[in-house]
Amino acid sequence: MRRPLVMGNWKLNGSKAMVTELLNGLNAELKGVEGVDVAVAPPVMYLAQAEQLLADSAIKLGAQNVDTHNSGAFTGDISAEMLKDFGATHIIIGHSERREYHQESDEFVAQKFAFLKENGLTPVLCIGESEAQNEAGETLAVCARQLDAVIQSQGVEALNGAIIAYEPIWAIGTGKAATAEQAQEIHAAIRKHIASYSEDVASKVVIQYGGSVKAGNAAELFAMPDIDGALVGGAALDAAGFAAIAKAA
Ligand code: 13P
Repeated sequence: MRRPLVMGNWKLNGSKAMVTELLNGLNAELKGVEGVDVAVAPPVMYLAQAEQLLADSAIKLGAQNVDTHNSGAFTGDISAEMLKDFGATHIIIGHSERREYHQESDEFVAQKFAFLKENGLTPVLCIGESEAQNEAGETLAVCARQLDAVIQSQGVEALNGAIIAYEPIWAIGTGKAATAEQAQEIHAAIRKHIASYSEDVASKVVIQYGGSVKAGNAAELFAMPDIDGALVGGAALDAAGFAAIAKAA
């Protein structure tokens, strides 16, 4: 049985005051909630503060990116060891915003995946197609290519313990979520693609849905057999709303 993960990707949002208010709110709202893993990924500036606020909490700490070296002359980079040093465990990589605005290739994202695994961190690997690719019927081909960059360089077993987040780009921040049926169809196809390498890995890997998830559509999405939680953007910035999503899982 797969344990769902509901993770908040705060993107470029936050302040010291907001971090305190949101995490105190989530600690209160989610106390005693079982059967779901919950994680938050604030901007790295706030990891130290978040680590303290989550010290007695079941909520896991994450980050939105990692670079590919642990130390040295790499100005501006953040290493896996640094993330670990602040208690972060779940690290988002390959988000479509980084692929688009920072020209991150499938191969570079796969390097980050390997780097996180080597350092004992959990990669949350984002995959997903653009609206044009969706309309051209290329959804599965795009997702398969993004996954294959990891599988073919590291072996399918590398996905053991990792998280996949299927985020159709046309659904991110648009209010236009995929319907539960649309998302289920793609999740099942992604799992089938992984099963072509290993049925065992495919049956165990957590595949989250992301893109305009909110309290109002979460339960429907989570009722689908291949949807194992969500990666939440905008709705993760409100404690009551995000907690309601987590409780629906
Ligand atoms: P929204 O929930 O704001 O659509 O963002 C989804 C996302 O990109 C999470 O990584």
